[in-house]
Amino acid sequence: MNTLSIRNPRTGVQDFSLEVFDADKVEFIVAELRQNQSAWFLMGVEKRVAHLALFAQALTDNKQALVDALVADTGRYTESVLEVDVTISGIQRWCKQAPELFTQQSERQAEIPFLNIKQSQLPYQCVGVISPWNFPLLLSLVDAIPALLAGCSIILKPSEVTSRFVKPFIAALNKVPALRQVFSVVTGAGETGQTLINNVDSICFTGSVATGRKVGESCAKRFIPAFLELGGKDPAIVCGDANVDMAAKALCWGSMVNAGQSCMSIERVYVHQDIADEFKQKLTANVAQLKHNYPDLQQGQVGPIISDKQVAIVKAQLADAKAKGATFLCGGEVLELGGGHYCQPTLITDVTPDMLVVKEETFAAVLPIFVVASDEEGVQRANDSIYGLSAAVFSENIQNAEMIASQLEAGAISINDASLTALVHEIEKQSFKYSGLGGSRMGKDSINRFVRKKAFIRNSGVDSPWWF
Ligand code: NAD
Repeated sequence: MNTLSIRNPRTGVQDFSLEVFDADKVEFIVAELRQNQSAWFLMGVEKRVAHLALFAQALTDNKQALVDALVADTGRYTESVLEVDVTISGIQRWCKQAPELFTQQSERQAEIPFLNIKQSQLPYQCVGVISPWNFPLLLSLVDAIPALLAGCSIILKPSEVTSRFVKPFIAALNKVPALRQVFSVVTGAGETGQTLINNVDSICFTGSVATGRKVGESCAKRFIPAFLELGGKDPAIVCGDANVDMAAKALCWGSMVNAGQSCMSIERVYVHQDIADEFKQKLTANVAQLKHNYPDLQQGQVGPIISDKQVAIVKAQLADAKAKGATFLCGGEVLELGGGHYCQPTLITDVTPDMLVVKEETFAAVLPIFVVASDEEGVQRANDSIYGLSAAVFSENIQNAEMIASQLEAGAISINDASLTALVHEIEKQSFKYSGLGGSRMGKDSINRFVRKKAFIRNSGVDSPWWF
């Protein structure tokens, strides 16, 4: 068996061995999933909901083992507990909504009166899900659950960096045999991901822009849809009339939670010059209080950098900012503690658009701050990016905030708060620019990604006037 050695982010020790699924195994699994899928679809949505509700219960019963595996994968505790809870409540939310979303439509008269029409929705047989390491469980299921409810089968390949959760996950899945027939998990790195693309009917990919581009191109060659949820460089505009205390609290959380390793992390701030000094002072006071969760896992707010590869990226960005004359209000170093790498909670001013920390995704506890002469300048600079995932606006004037929100080139805008798409899942959003491609993952529209619409058009028994 081919394996990969996986590093523990807290100790730096390679203490886990991961099976690498090759092309033959993936092909075999997909063929089995395809065979099982039609029974899953034909049993109807009510029964699929019942099986997924059992699965939510099985995950709940296995919560401690899942949390333990996620802690070992990611080196953080609070977020691991939250991740399991949010995943389970997400399944329960979909279970409530699904019956209404998949109700069979009855036949109705078309605009041409002697024709009757009926819409049906046919699920893709096999959907491939490829997920990243920052929320290993949550991002493995966020697309899989609505796809299963639509009647698809799923083959999931989680990130090789954080696959320890697969064992307790499969233990929960085994408790629901009907679901197990249509849900398989394979492990491995990019090559295994590529074999998924070669075999499935549709791909949901969450990860970096660089890999997303390759995935999109491979899917295009096979004429299969690619739903891409990619990186971001989310900006926050702090207007001249903002509540400074509120902005300083919200942006401390929005930039530092999960040690900045969230796609919707705030990674740039544009603050109006009238309030800039007060804002910087308050934000610095908040950020400087944050502690690493070392040596006690359950203390502190900022965990280690999860992926080894990311360490070099963060160090390079900090060094580049220093070399180009940035000022560090706090932090600025990646520390090595007990074998893990921890980025100090870092605020940077005197930044320029050519710095890597401003142009490229950092994915760490680092926040550059620009002082701008007007809110308009903030918007214009915020939009000067290849990314368009989400953004935030702070203003006491709601009309002003909404006007700015409408000008920001991003798919979700938090107003007087930050990174709210991490918590609010019922409203549709799409990624702008290089942050993604395809329909909304959130809200009811999400299910449209997993079905093809089919039209039934019936002549009610007359000679159509256009016949020869
Ligand atoms: P990544 O692109 O390196 O890897 C993501 C997944 O793709 C992994 O499972 C990996 O094994 C697989 N992969 C790698 N090469 C592949 C290939 N050629 N074909 C198929 N699969 C391949 O991303 P990452 O470093 O794991 O995750 C961090 C990135 O994910 C960040 O850019 C972050 O912003 C982004 N992200 C986006 C969202 C979102 O919803 N928009 C959410 C979380 C993370």
